[in-house]
Amino acid sequence: QRAEWRKLRDEPTVTVDNVHVELAANIGTPNDVTGVLENGGEAVGLYRTEFLYMGRDKLPSEDIQYNAYKAVLEKMEGKPVVVRTLDIGGDKELPYLDLPKEMNPFLGFRAVRLCLDRLDIFRTQLRALLRASVHGNLRVMFPMIATLGEFREAKAVLLEEKEKLVAEGIAVSDSIQLGIMVEIPSTAVLADQFAKEVDFFSIGTNDLIQYTMAADRMNERVSYLYQPYNPSILRLVKMVIDAAHREGKWVGMCGEMAGDETAIPLLLGLGLDEFSMSATSILPARSQITKLSRADMQELAAKALDMQTAEQVVELVQSIKA
Ligand code: PEP
Ligand code: MG
Repeated sequence: QRAEWRKLRDEPTVTVDNVHVELAANIGTPNDVTGVLENGGEAVGLYRTEFLYMGRDKLPSEDIQYNAYKAVLEKMEGKPVVVRTLDIGGDKELPYLDLPKEMNPFLGFRAVRLCLDRLDIFRTQLRALLRASVHGNLRVMFPMIATLGEFREAKAVLLEEKEKLVAEGIAVSDSIQLGIMVEIPSTAVLADQFAKEVDFFSIGTNDLIQYTMAADRMNERVSYLYQPYNPSILRLVKMVIDAAHREGKWVGMCGEMAGDETAIPLLLGLGLDEFSMSATSILPARSQITKLSRADMQELAAKALDMQTAEQVVELVQSIKA
């Protein structure tokens, strides 16, 4: 099996009926890029920038960030790199920010909410990203977007920083795609409106499932409600993909679900364009997808959407393997 996977390293990911999808990797540091390329990753679908901010006693400077983003872009040699702006809060704390304890950290002051309040932090990161943009194929993504207003505000700050840099005579790429994570149900439901304004979506199922089922992703006692295959989740994913495609935009997924063997046939059938996962899952996923037909998976997904429970969906997917 390993030998078969290795042969797939430099191959595109194409279904038996000739549909190409992109297999990307989630990374946390520039060093992770080596593993992405060794495992045949076609892109970085999620660069979690939190690690730059963690494990130190103050905010990382613009130059520290610039060097990290530049390193990732250069190592990827022109392949797409989706960098997510700071997603701190929830389960990830930054002691030096001295934020007050909250009753419900996952429903609280985190990610883009924090960035739009602490514009000093946000602007520094955006400047570093914009400066790095000339070193590769940069895509910027905002996490935890709940409203169109938040996206517009974040985008406006990015454009302001871009104008400032240009005025300073610093080169900035003109082809940076700008997207959002879809990980809050309000945004999935309103995806048709968002799709008119963003360049792409990346579905963050780790949070989307938690918020849709109202089940804390860290709480063992409610983990039975953490159901990627629940038809409600599949319907939200479908809404997002259909809305994006109607506007000619692409959709990725960077939650754990994207690399899951049982989910992959369904996501392929729903029309997902990019699957972003841990690097070590890429070759098994490529091996799986190259044996599937998208037309067949469309039928499978249509059946799954009409089912009542997650268990029924799992049984359905397993029936195609038998
Ligand atoms: C997600 O929510 O699915 C996601 C990819 O982001 P994180 O796991 O970092 O919250
Ligand atoms: Mg998330």
